[in-house]
Amino acid sequence: MVQVDRESQFDEPKLDRRSLLKLGVAGTAALATAAPLTAKANEGGFGTKVHSDIPYDVSPEYKRFNQYNTVFNSDRRKGIPAMSPIFDDSRPGFSFSEFALSMASTNLWMNPGMEMEVVHQPRGVLPTPYQFPDATTAHAQLKRAARHFGASLVGITRRDERWDYSDVVIYESGGHETLPWEKALPDFNPKTVIVVAWEMDYEALAASPSQISDATALNAYSGLTYILTHMTDYLNYLGYKAAPAVNGLGLNVPYAIAAGLGEVNRMGMLQNYKYGPRLRIAKIYTELELDEYYDKPVTFGIQRFCENCMHCANQCPSGAVSHDIKPAIYTAEDVKDKPYINPGIRKWHLNGQKCHDYWIESGTTCATCIATCPYNKPDFWHHRLIDRINTYIPGPLHKFMAEMDLWHGYGNMFDEKAPAVFWDPKGRSYDGLKG
Ligand code: SF4
Ligand code: SF4
Repeated sequence: MVQVDRESQFDEPKLDRRSLLKLGVAGTAALATAAPLTAKANEGGFGTKVHSDIPYDVSPEYKRFNQYNTVFNSDRRKGIPAMSPIFDDSRPGFSFSEFALSMASTNLWMNPGMEMEVVHQPRGVLPTPYQFPDATTAHAQLKRAARHFGASLVGITRRDERWDYSDVVIYESGGHETLPWEKALPDFNPKTVIVVAWEMDYEALAASPSQISDATALNAYSGLTYILTHMTDYLNYLGYKAAPAVNGLGLNVPYAIAAGLGEVNRMGMLQNYKYGPRLRIAKIYTELELDEYYDKPVTFGIQRFCENCMHCANQCPSGAVSHDIKPAIYTAEDVKDKPYINPGIRKWHLNGQKCHDYWIESGTTCATCIATCPYNKPDFWHHRLIDRINTYIPGPLHKFMAEMDLWHGYGNMFDEKAPAVFWDPKGRSYDGLKG
């Protein structure tokens, strides 16, 4: 097998027609063509570092998260009604048309072409699973397929049980049951997790919170569902079992980090080099193994930037985002009354209960924290240049850079003059938002 460096999230190989054809018959050669690009990215150019494992402290006391404890599940158990979208033709961003746009955006997510979070079996076209010429080719073919089906980003990592739910909640008509992961997916021993991400629309998110920003998030979930169903079928045709999951089965953020798609930020979300946090993530587990040919985690200074930038914490209407300067490993004692927080990883821990309460009160989902982030920018060259310079700049200057972002008209979600903002800064209380 020819060894070349793994591609990263921001310099994937640009395969021309000839390389694509070569990929079909001799993928190793095609990847060798792309190797100079990937090697350059992974050598740490532009301040980027490549890591062999997830680049955050994981405490020995860390435990796999139980899906039973997500805020959505615990609210459901408490009988708290789910967020009910509202419309009000007199309110920008909440007209009936925008409400309809949001509802229609859920379509594929709510009605997927195949069942999610279960194991799908090989199609049986070949008597035994298809063997790629080598892991390099398999890696490239899987990425090409995910791109083909619409992924903005794709990373491939080894399955890591730390990031799988300890227990999976299965909803059936009239009730639910909670099963250990291994019992919920019997006879399934995945080796690989393919992580895909979908870019949300910049302009739509700038209208957060509203049915417009909600629509782009829901459209992303429908888009991810499309990718997952098709990737699962692709793997099944190849002769491998696969289990697709948008938010189910495991934690998306650590898997995305392990797959080299970015870092964890102050909001606890994935921060990608190109898209910032303006992404939704999903994954497919499969039994196909890629030897050691997996993507690797990268860091490019996000935690250091977040220590000095508080935009998301300052702009969050519910106070869910931490104002702590440094990320922390909470002990179980600290969070024993907050089962939705999973301690044991050094990061900023989002108060998901406050966030979800706000969604329910305001009648729409919210993405204000994402919209305000300085890394959330359209793909103009000068934004990318500043992102790259960031990694070389000492910490305190990051605060100045974050302030400059506001001076240039970005990220202030409460600016009454900003045309894209449909938020009433005087009506920040939840009641004031009800239609
Ligand atoms: S989605 Fe809205 S309420 Fe939730 S953390 Fe982000 S800004 Fe705060
Ligand atoms: S808004 Fe600032 S603090 Fe929040 S995630 Fe983005 S860079 Fe980090």
